[in-house]
Amino acid sequence: MNQKLIEEQYETLGISKEVYAFGEKIERELKERFEAIDAMAEFNQMKVIRAMQENKVSAECFSQSNGYGYNDLGRDTLEKVYASCFHGEDALVRPQITCGTHALALALMSNLRPGDELFSPVGKPYDTLEEVIGIRPSKGSLAEYGISYRQVDLLEDGSFDFENIKKAINEKTKLVTIQRSKGYQTRPTLSVARIGELISFIKEIKPDVICMVDNCYGEFVEEKEPLEVGADMIVGSLIKNAGGGLAPIGGYIVGKKECVENAAYRLTSPGLGKEVGASLNVIQSFYQGLFQAPVVVSGALKGAIFAANIYERLGFPVIPNGTESRHDIIQAVTLNSAEGLIAFCEGIQAAAPVDSYVKPEPWAMPGYDSEVIMAAGAFVQGSSIELSADGPLKPPYAVYFQGGITWYHAKLGILMSLQKLYEQKLVNMDGLC
Ligand SMILES: *Cc1c(COP(=O)(O)O)cnc(C)c1O
Repeated sequence: MNQKLIEEQYETLGISKEVYAFGEKIERELKERFEAIDAMAEFNQMKVIRAMQENKVSAECFSQSNGYGYNDLGRDTLEKVYASCFHGEDALVRPQITCGTHALALALMSNLRPGDELFSPVGKPYDTLEEVIGIRPSKGSLAEYGISYRQVDLLEDGSFDFENIKKAINEKTKLVTIQRSKGYQTRPTLSVARIGELISFIKEIKPDVICMVDNCYGEFVEEKEPLEVGADMIVGSLIKNAGGGLAPIGGYIVGKKECVENAAYRLTSPGLGKEVGASLNVIQSFYQGLFQAPVVVSGALKGAIFAANIYERLGFPVIPNGTESRHDIIQAVTLNSAEGLIAFCEGIQAAAPVDSYVKPEPWAMPGYDSEVIMAAGAFVQGSSIELSADGPLKPPYAVYFQGGITWYHAKLGILMSLQKLYEQKLVNMDGLC
């Protein structure tokens, strides 16, 4: 393929010569890292195929059920596939779980009882969980049900505060929540190995405590998942990594049989549990999404690393930095100004296959405590395994960028974000390309 022809395609989409040349230069430097990501995708692709084969996925699994959904072969088999793939005893994978927050709330509310304490040893959890827990008062929170909460922040350098973690664990501590991804914070994301160390430490102090990992954005980034290093339960959203961009809704909980059972009785009803819950016509997309997820995640990872290297070179603080190892698909870029944040998001939006002509605007999104700007031209509303960017409109104006069903789309999105910043003279590329 003539490179010139590709460049012309970018030009017709609005990418200037300077921006394109800078992008090519950065991409050339990333060849080895991209090869390592491809190898990870290959490893995880085999893992998923094996889980499907082991559990005898068949064409019958794709027929839809309705009503109560008794004996739904597709649903029951898919849950076995998830259990195999992520190394759990059992799994709950349902379209009735509406999003990641719902999956996490379900896992917490079903495994905690009045008088119990929930503990986060890794600092403040994801924004929407503040209302679930009752850190910010909300109807139906854990706090309303007499479940207390305690947290120990990470130390300044991102390491665990073992001393205070030990002090915080008490006779009431029932469940420990560990968020793998940084979410809307600028702390480092935890590797699976570090999660394992933390769990070993906690289990030594209190062996029967339930260790739950919020696995959002982490699936298939590494060769191991948290259940392989001692977690009792992992929780995630199907419109992020595990759904591979194809699942139109859903969430999962995988882990110890008892934890999953508790969640099932809470999701449906005591007495009914996993036996009901029709999979309607979405089940095939759950299978196909999981099947594709390792490759989709690899595209998103390449995008994140590309963005880190582009913006780092331009002098913006980026987390993770351009060279460090990756444990989730999120890239934070601190743009230092509201104009920068908005321009970045406009670029992501303009690169989308859907809704590319709309301009994203900041809005007061439910569950968040400041205005948020979001860019997403997604096939599935709010899907953040698709190319998307969002950030709270408050200093330091960090944008959280993630997704990209294909690497090429992620690349276009990042180049377009840079294009917008370049046009508004918010970056200086002199001498860089
Ligand atoms: C996205 C996310 C959630 C919440 O998931 P939603 O689907 O947005 O409700 C929770 N925790 C983390 C770390 C996340 O990234």
